[in-house]
Amino acid sequence: MSANTDWESNEELQLFREYLRIPSVHPHPNYDGCLEFLKRQAKQLELPLAVYYPSNADNPVVVMTWIGLEPELPAVLLNSHMDVVPVFPENWTHPPFGADIDKQGRIYARGAQDMKCVGMQYLGAIRALKQSGSRFRRTIHISFVADEEMGGALGMRPFVHTDEFRALNVGFGLDEGLASPTDEFPVFYAERSVWRFYFKASGTAGHGSLLLPGTAGEKLNYIVGKMMELRRSQVLRLENNPELTIGDVTTVNLTRLSGGVQSNVVPPQLTACFDVRLALDVDHRQFEADMHRWIEEAGGGVELEYEHQRPRVEPTATDESNPFWMAFKSATDELGLDIKLQIFTGGTDSRYLRELGIPALGFSPMNNTPVLLHDHDEFLQADVYLRGIEIFKKIIKNVANV
Ligand SMILES: [Zn+2]
Repeated sequence: MSANTDWESNEELQLFREYLRIPSVHPHPNYDGCLEFLKRQAKQLELPLAVYYPSNADNPVVVMTWIGLEPELPAVLLNSHMDVVPVFPENWTHPPFGADIDKQGRIYARGAQDMKCVGMQYLGAIRALKQSGSRFRRTIHISFVADEEMGGALGMRPFVHTDEFRALNVGFGLDEGLASPTDEFPVFYAERSVWRFYFKASGTAGHGSLLLPGTAGEKLNYIVGKMMELRRSQVLRLENNPELTIGDVTTVNLTRLSGGVQSNVVPPQLTACFDVRLALDVDHRQFEADMHRWIEEAGGGVELEYEHQRPRVEPTATDESNPFWMAFKSATDELGLDIKLQIFTGGTDSRYLRELGIPALGFSPMNNTPVLLHDHDEFLQADVYLRGIEIFKKIIKNVANV
């Protein structure tokens, strides 16, 4: 029997591929298929399942629960999101919701890495643990949320503030990480704070043939210059220290410019939008004060309007003070995994747990795999997927016995 036939007939891979074929895709994801599929999984695993709607009827949160031997202890949450980002099928060599498997065992689908893999690996690990008769001290909740790819505003973000979430009594969470093209496995313990804001500069309007004082263009030019200085300083920090990754520095990008009415008229208002991810070492109040000082120096009359201004969130401790970290680490050590602690470059639902003071780690066990999240031809190799189930078996056993 060839490896290919093994992969085709493997039950864990069949379930993974079935889940991948459900097109829960933005911009208007329909979760009905996921719900039906997950209800079947819960039944097969003999786990109770609950569905919550923290925002509206289109955005469910599914939670399966495996009660522990000491259910009064804070529980372990294994979280994943059901939604996936849009596809451009013309750029794919396989249908993006086909879950085709090629001769090398690569399974192609949107969500193969981000992050239907992890959700199904949790279930695969729990299936194996249940079959072996294992029981653990802590209750384990396996959650499947909506809307992560849009920032979780209709999913995890409101969910963590509901009575239903509080009743889950979560003490530790696992959520998504990233693939790694090398042997290493990145583990994410923190995220930067996303700030997105508009500088709306008002100034003297008039004819384009004059040199009017206090124009919107001059003001905006001054402020954009200051933002670009900050950007350059962070580029240098990265260049000068090979130990740093992009998650360690503040990223600054000018993302939108607008304004003007006619090409020969000095406009009354011009607007610039920035996407900034504040590094963990940035004093938020100081940064805000700096921006207001630049506005004053530019001559005033500039409104600062926030689209996002996320608070600083304490990183999850990765030392003896956090027994869940110690349990996680002993599992990956026993398996001989080469893990590397990192700060996540983007945002994940982990931040909503950390904001409540709940320790959370981001981990997707996909090494020797190109990072293809949100990319065309997203794939995960079958053996990497199956190895991930083995890895989660050990991790779940350890963290649920803390
Ligand atoms: Zn994701």
